[in-house]
Amino acid sequence: MKTTKFRRGARVVHKSQTYHIDRPVLLIEDQRALAQMAEAMLREKWGCEVMVAASMLEAKQLLEAHGSAFVAAVCDLNLPDAPYGEVIDLVNKHSVPAIALTGAFGEELRSMVNKKGVVDYVLKQGVNSYEYAVNLVGRIHKNTSIKVLVTDDSLSARAVLKHMLSIQGLNVLTAKDGYEAIEMIEMHPDIKLVLVDYNMPKMNGFSFVLEARKRMGKDQLAIIGISGEDGGNVSAQFLKNGANDFIAKPYSYEELICRVTQNLEMLEMVESIQNIANRDYLTGMYNRRYFFDEGYGIYEDANNSGSNLFIAMIDVDHFKKVNDTYGHDCGDLVLKHLAAQLSAHFRDDLIARLGGEEFALLIADEDIKVTRERLEAFRLHIERETIRCDTTNIAITVSIGGSHHPLENLDMMLKTADENLYHAKQNGRNRIVA
Ligand code: GH3
Ligand code: MG
Ligand code: MG
Repeated sequence: MKTTKFRRGARVVHKSQTYHIDRPVLLIEDQRALAQMAEAMLREKWGCEVMVAASMLEAKQLLEAHGSAFVAAVCDLNLPDAPYGEVIDLVNKHSVPAIALTGAFGEELRSMVNKKGVVDYVLKQGVNSYEYAVNLVGRIHKNTSIKVLVTDDSLSARAVLKHMLSIQGLNVLTAKDGYEAIEMIEMHPDIKLVLVDYNMPKMNGFSFVLEARKRMGKDQLAIIGISGEDGGNVSAQFLKNGANDFIAKPYSYEELICRVTQNLEMLEMVESIQNIANRDYLTGMYNRRYFFDEGYGIYEDANNSGSNLFIAMIDVDHFKKVNDTYGHDCGDLVLKHLAAQLSAHFRDDLIARLGGEEFALLIADEDIKVTRERLEAFRLHIERETIRCDTTNIAITVSIGGSHHPLENLDMMLKTADENLYHAKQNGRNRIVA
């Protein structure tokens, strides 16, 4: 079977662009000025649709009409027809994550709200509190595509954690011991966070962390240890073994959520820095630096195992003419289109934009005949498709130069591919020479 090393990020990503929420937000607020301000902030920040209800009755109608389409509901606790936070029960009934907003807050209200199960509560104290609520909506939306694994031998502890994390919109998986947890992270490599109890039969929390870290680094998977035993020693051991954080039992819902959010945000920050370093801004593809960083390792693997390795250089034909005829913006659009097509055709291979209108592809462990067929299918696809820019359809073709292992190193392979690309251009373009 073909190895699929690059599944975790070979696709085109546009992390540098603004995050967009593609689901509506329900805003329940009876004070018009506040509602207008919050609505504007939500639209501005997330580009999302906002539906406003000025009473519990209006909220009920909107929820009945749109069901669980809402990504979240921002709820004023004091409404003319629901003065004590009754609206939270309504929102929960429709399985929409609720963010509570209130003018006055006492310990009693805090515990009432937490008992009802809200994402978080915010005190209405000027613009800042709305900013907090607006950011939370983004967090919930991101959470809906994040998998979290809860590992505890106690069924009730698993259930409690699962419930708390689900309120945040997270997708929660569970495991009853370290062995099962390792199986889970192997089965779901997209799990971003593991919460793991210390004291478990078979494999305890420490051993789990050690095993997990052999498979995934701190930049890929966050681990939070949990224990009720002698906080100091256990927490230090968790961290030394490779956990990112520790929570001592008993913990409050708020503490848990703050730590979970902080760890997820840390992973996202690392990812965005990695993207800035390794990806091309225009197309979101890997750049030259990443291509060589990863490529050398792949070359070594192929060399050691004696398996096939193919490198292809792909260059747009007469691209300068595209810019001259349709403008630079259309040229950019063509490059983005090409990047998307490359990503779709070579999902499991290493692809990068080396510079300008030149892309490189590294295909490991595949029959050469199959590789050639795939490249030919790609070339043909590009020739047949047109790219719409403004009011015109732009047609392009690509030339491809290839070379395959054994050659003495990756640079030699690339050099030979580049020479073959030159021959492809000389022989009339829109063709493959390998
Ligand atoms: P050939 O078929 O021989 O490859 O001809 P060509 O015109 O494609 O090649 P040439 O190297 O002469 O021109 C490449 C052009 O690509 C010139 C440059 O302005 C343009 N280019 C490079 N990077 C970008 C970019 O990011 N956006 C746009 N729109 N154009 C770019
Ligand atoms: Mg060109
Ligand atoms: Mg060129």
